Amino acid sequence: MRPDERFLTLQQTWVIQAAHELSNFEGIQQSFQHELVIFFNLLYESLHNHNPQLLHPILERWSQSLTQSDLADQSTTVMQVCGQLFSITFKVCSEELGKDDSLALWASLQPIEIDCLAYASQLEKQREIEHIQQEMERMKFDLETLDRSKSDFISVAAHELKTPLTLIEGYAAMLRETAAEQIAGEQVNRLLNGMDQGADRLKRIIDDMIDISLIDNHLLTLNFQPMWIDRMISILADEFASAMQLRRQKLVFERFDGANDLIFADSERIYQALKNLLSNAIKFTPDGGQVTIGGRKLPGFLELTFHDTGIGIAQEDIGRIFEKFSRAGNSALHSSGNIKFKGGGPGLGLPITRGIIEAHGGALWVESDGYDEVKYPGSTFHVLLPARKEPPDAQIAKLLKPLYNPDKGT
Ligand code: ADP
Repeated sequence: MRPDERFLTLQQTWVIQAAHELSNFEGIQQSFQHELVIFFNLLYESLHNHNPQLLHPILERWSQSLTQSDLADQSTTVMQVCGQLFSITFKVCSEELGKDDSLALWASLQPIEIDCLAYASQLEKQREIEHIQQEMERMKFDLETLDRSKSDFISVAAHELKTPLTLIEGYAAMLRETAAEQIAGEQVNRLLNGMDQGADRLKRIIDDMIDISLIDNHLLTLNFQPMWIDRMISILADEFASAMQLRRQKLVFERFDGANDLIFADSERIYQALKNLLSNAIKFTPDGGQVTIGGRKLPGFLELTFHDTGIGIAQEDIGRIFEKFSRAGNSALHSSGNIKFKGGGPGLGLPITRGIIEAHGGALWVESDGYDEVKYPGSTFHVLLPARKEPPDAQIAKLLKPLYNPDKGT
């Protein structure tokens, strides 16, 4: 009898031994006995035909049946099972066959074992890669869901807070009128002013929450109008003049070529963005410091810079400060305020500013030599704004053309 034919006679012994030894492997079920019979028969076919590839389909099936938890903790691998089955095969052969037959079988089985292990390892790598890809997809989905619910929460909370706030503002106004008629006095006015300030601050926070949810949901609509950067900076300078005087800070506007060019942008939104940058520059610069607004004209763009002589920003915080509800690691939670040194806020100013600039097709970034409250290295925020010569909407462009370009109007 040829060695491979002798091998066939060992089926029963082989299956009993294999089932017994593999039962120690976690995850090997009773039904696996049937699989063992198939494996043995295919092993015989491989021996008989000198073709190790005949075992590939069963290895593929086993590899597919690995559960996600097997893959995660690598408790059972097809390679391990294969290795075990071949050592059982060698053991059964040496116990059941004569020396010569078992040696001859060993020689024929070895290339099959090598091929099997190599193929099992390749399958496992593939499965691991698929598993990692699935995990990454799942994590991405979870993160997106989390972000969506965060942004839904912001939008719902903001709208719900707005109604009672309007009531408070209305009653405060009525109280002021009544009080003015009946018990007008220093004390009452002071209390009413305090109430107004609180309501105003709350309104600004709610407006910021609404803006950030518009930006997050790509719902920010822009109302393009003609505007001039230099005029906008003058209005900003006027608005902050008394605050900067209070902080003994100097505002320098270095006029640049292009600053008085007519461009199309949503002037209200751009004002809001630049105001955030100037108020931050004031907040994070000590008393007596300076804020310099400069810029340059680039092909198709205007670049604006807001440079301050303030505390600066640590390298690791440079990306983080543009995320919502974040503040640089060094910023202590000082009382919130518009212009107080290191005054805290909800951490929405920069994400809104970036959202507005990006909605225009521009970019916002910052440079700083680091955070230092002794040397005050300062920070420079750069705003790159497309210098649109007409509004993007063709209808509006046609309508407005006579206003900014009388010769070409139709
Ligand atoms: P908020 O709405 O609370 O003012 P921002 O989003 O405008 O928050 O800013 C986030 C954080 O970025 C601030 O808390 C501060 O740590 C840092 N930051 C912003 N502007 C400056 C600046 N000019 N100099 C130093 N740090 C700054």
